[in-house]
Amino acid sequence: MGIRTGAQVLDGLRDGRQLYMDGELIKDVTRDPRLAGGARTMAQLFDLQHRPEFIDDMTFTPEGSSERVGLSFLPTRTQADLARRRGMYKRWHDHTAGMFGRAPDFVNVMLSAFAWGADAFGPYAGNVRAYYEKARDGDRIATHSLTNPQVDRSKNVAAQARDLAAKAVRETDAGVIVRGARMLATLAAYSDDLLVMPAPAYPLPNTEEAKPFALGFAIPMATKGVKLINRPGVIQPGIGSTHDHPLSARFDESDCMIVFDDVLVPWENIFVYRDIDIFNNIYKRTHATPAMAHQFSVKDVSKAEFMMGLAFSLVRMTRVDEFLHVQGMLAELINHVEALRACVLAAEAGAQMTDIGVMSPAMGPLGVVRFQFPDMFRRACEIIQLIGAGGLVMAPSFAEMEGPLGEDVKTYYQAAAGDASTRIRLFRLAFDATMSTFSGRQQLYERYFAGDPVRGAGGLYLGYDKEPHVRRIHDMLDRFAAEDLDRR
Ligand SMILES: Cc1cc2nc3c(=O)[nH]c(=O)nc-3n(C[C@H](O)[C@H](O)[C@H](O)COP(=O)(O)OP(=O)(O)OC[C@H]3O[C@@H](n4cnc5c(N)ncnc54)[C@H](O)[C@@H]3O)c2cc1C
Repeated sequence: MGIRTGAQVLDGLRDGRQLYMDGELIKDVTRDPRLAGGARTMAQLFDLQHRPEFIDDMTFTPEGSSERVGLSFLPTRTQADLARRRGMYKRWHDHTAGMFGRAPDFVNVMLSAFAWGADAFGPYAGNVRAYYEKARDGDRIATHSLTNPQVDRSKNVAAQARDLAAKAVRETDAGVIVRGARMLATLAAYSDDLLVMPAPAYPLPNTEEAKPFALGFAIPMATKGVKLINRPGVIQPGIGSTHDHPLSARFDESDCMIVFDDVLVPWENIFVYRDIDIFNNIYKRTHATPAMAHQFSVKDVSKAEFMMGLAFSLVRMTRVDEFLHVQGMLAELINHVEALRACVLAAEAGAQMTDIGVMSPAMGPLGVVRFQFPDMFRRACEIIQLIGAGGLVMAPSFAEMEGPLGEDVKTYYQAAAGDASTRIRLFRLAFDATMSTFSGRQQLYERYFAGDPVRGAGGLYLGYDKEPHVRRIHDMLDRFAAEDLDRR
């Protein structure tokens, strides 16, 4: 099939999935006013792949095929391949200001890493390769669910008093029956498939009780017994104008809890089953983590550039960039962008060939992005609040331009560098990016989408090669002792 158009993507989402929101079954995620904005954005991303000026940068033709497929599935054998993939990620994330973080490239990259390192899946390696080819050649969209519901985090999943997490409850000739729940699948409303996989930093204990939870598989979203429970939308559609919440109306990705009501997962869809060693080590052995971090770091560059551009536009409107402390805050945003770009390029420059023949970007600089970007993004929100100040809450609904007070609005909402229409749309954009429910969800996303930063930071410290640095300090102490300046 090769790359799909936006219209084909939307058709594919009308598959009878069981997605619930606000207490009701959503019949068509592409038309329901709460979800149609995100569906439209997804369609736009796919249409971008077909634009003549982008097609070579966004697609490639795999060996032995005559059809173009998405470039996020490109095998990375060289540093140039990493740079090519970067260009593709950037195109998609520039389109959404980095606010549609789970655009399909994220899971495509993860899946590609699994496919190239498929031997690490042992008896299910063939299933992983086959699913990768199906996803690539059919240009399918997948979400992933890696974690168990929050019930009692003081005990591991196999030791919970309330047994709610998804697990294998029995086997049949056709496959494995899964019952229970998983969280948290962003993009589930707009995905064709669901991947249930381990979470990189949350290992299972090597016990018999834990084995039913050691699961990895991919199934179509409309599989019998799969129920999706979506959180409420970030806005109430149909009220005011979309200019009032331009990001919320387009880039709300959806976040779902997934309930498995005795779902049959066919054997050919199983990737991991009852093997704790594979479950706990699959990311390390397939080098999936650096590949995914490369993708989201490019997303972060897009997002930081958007926040910087937004701040530049805002300060010009009322000329507050005359003031030194405002310039200082704008300089911080410039530094965010430059630091993130440098980390992505450093990761590519430091890439190394792995034992499985894949060129893997250096994790060190990408880890800096992973740990620093949540603070950068929150600080960017704060800076825009500080420079937008009262203007952020004074901007009226855009519909006011055409209301009874339209002439007053056109007069009194002008700014030094723009008419009322431009100023209101800009300030509402800034409000949406930094203060709205949408922004709050973005801030939470940046904190947690890549797992718990606390446990991640612990892992970074424990895994870091500390010895040369400690040795250097002691060598210095020894040198100082030998110099013994006190005796002079
Ligand atoms: C907006 C958003 C989108 C997301 N999208 C996805 C997605 O698409 N797919 C997906 O799989 N996941 C997704 N995640 C989930 C993400 O993987 C988890 O949020 C993350 O792993 C943290 O787990 P948790 O939310 O269950 O928090 P918890 O594990 O419940 O942690 C809550 C708090 O307790 C602390 N804590 C809990 N247990 C421990 C422990 N053992 N040791 C030390 N501290 C502990 C944590 O540090 C944290 O402060 C998303 C999360 C968010 C917020």
